[in-house]
Amino acid sequence: MRSDPLAWLDNELASLDKCDLRRRLRTYDGPQGAAITIDGRPAINFGSNDYLGLAADRRLAAAAAQAADEQGFGGGASPLVVGHSRVLERLEQRLAEFEGVEAALVFASGFAANSGAIPALVGEGDSVYSDALNHASIVDGCRLSRAAVHVYPHGDVGKLQEMLVAGGAFRRRLIVTDSLFSMDGDLAPLADLAELAERHVCMLLVDEAHATGVFGPHGRGIAEQLGVEAGVPIRVGTLSKALGAMGGFVAGRRSLIEWLANRARPYVFSTALPPPVAAAAACAVDIVRDEPFRRRELLERSADLTSRLRAQGWRIGPTASQIIPLIVGPSARAVELSAALAARGYSAPAIRPPSVPANSARLRISLSWAHDPEMIDGLIAALADHASSRC
Ligand code: PMP
Repeated sequence: MRSDPLAWLDNELASLDKCDLRRRLRTYDGPQGAAITIDGRPAINFGSNDYLGLAADRRLAAAAAQAADEQGFGGGASPLVVGHSRVLERLEQRLAEFEGVEAALVFASGFAANSGAIPALVGEGDSVYSDALNHASIVDGCRLSRAAVHVYPHGDVGKLQEMLVAGGAFRRRLIVTDSLFSMDGDLAPLADLAELAERHVCMLLVDEAHATGVFGPHGRGIAEQLGVEAGVPIRVGTLSKALGAMGGFVAGRRSLIEWLANRARPYVFSTALPPPVAAAAACAVDIVRDEPFRRRELLERSADLTSRLRAQGWRIGPTASQIIPLIVGPSARAVELSAALAARGYSAPAIRPPSVPANSARLRISLSWAHDPEMIDGLIAALADHASSRC
């Protein structure tokens, strides 16, 4: 009998099971939001990245429907062929205005933006310096680039400086970081990174995926919040989290955008964002401009929830944002905590390696503007109830 070349898959999945590392898809019905029906059961949802409560906002759906009427649904082709719709062009203009830069380029996702932009900026003979906790899309972008990759300890500008000085031969150099770290909720030291980049003549790419729409007086992110935008020439953002739509973008000077449009492979070789999705994202950019109370209130409530959880005794780490991790250590404990909350009607994902370092599994709570005070009080009560049931 011939042996099955895919038989190894069952063994590998079984070993994921054994280490509490197997993930399973769950399915929601109805709109995405603070209250959700997941696998047929209602739950208060603390797992989405829909930070401003826009994913199910009727205005985005109406903008999408109108664009579908005008330009149809499908993107049809890659942007450089015949996929660059008028609606998509308008979104790129809106994003450039929003960011206060010359131009912006929209990718199919934030993942595509990072994994496409980095290899377009550096290649063989170049060096890239990457924070140890950067998102997988940055890690993959670095790997794909074939540049020498130097990973510096999380947020450690002193160590980064040593690495830059030790440098060796290179053609171009790039420093790359998340601005708001997705699993810890802490902020990158952008002022120091911008200063280092300038002093050592490095390009600096900052991924504002979790901060776009949430931080800064105009919602542009952490660089705006810290007043260092002039030092961040390459900005990445996503349309799929606070903006409630789908897609990613790079914003910066026109030559950067022209270069990426020519050389970023996920842009060149992938179908353009469909017009309805682009229209919904553009609508969300307008809402971010017109409704600053959403981000203001979200951050106030996040600080309040963080201090209440700390007071309850949870190990939370240095979060300064709407992403609040309850770090419990072993994967099995994170899975157990997530299940205990689910049984009480609250959904928050257990985050395990490889998404976080070994033995730092956690429950990741992400707060949305759409959560009302009763939902937040209920989460705290459910956590207290679980803790007392374990004593
Ligand atoms: N960058 C960061 C920091 C992220 O956390 C994510 C998504 N989790 C992405 C990029 C990818 O964005 P998208 O979901 O739009 O692909």
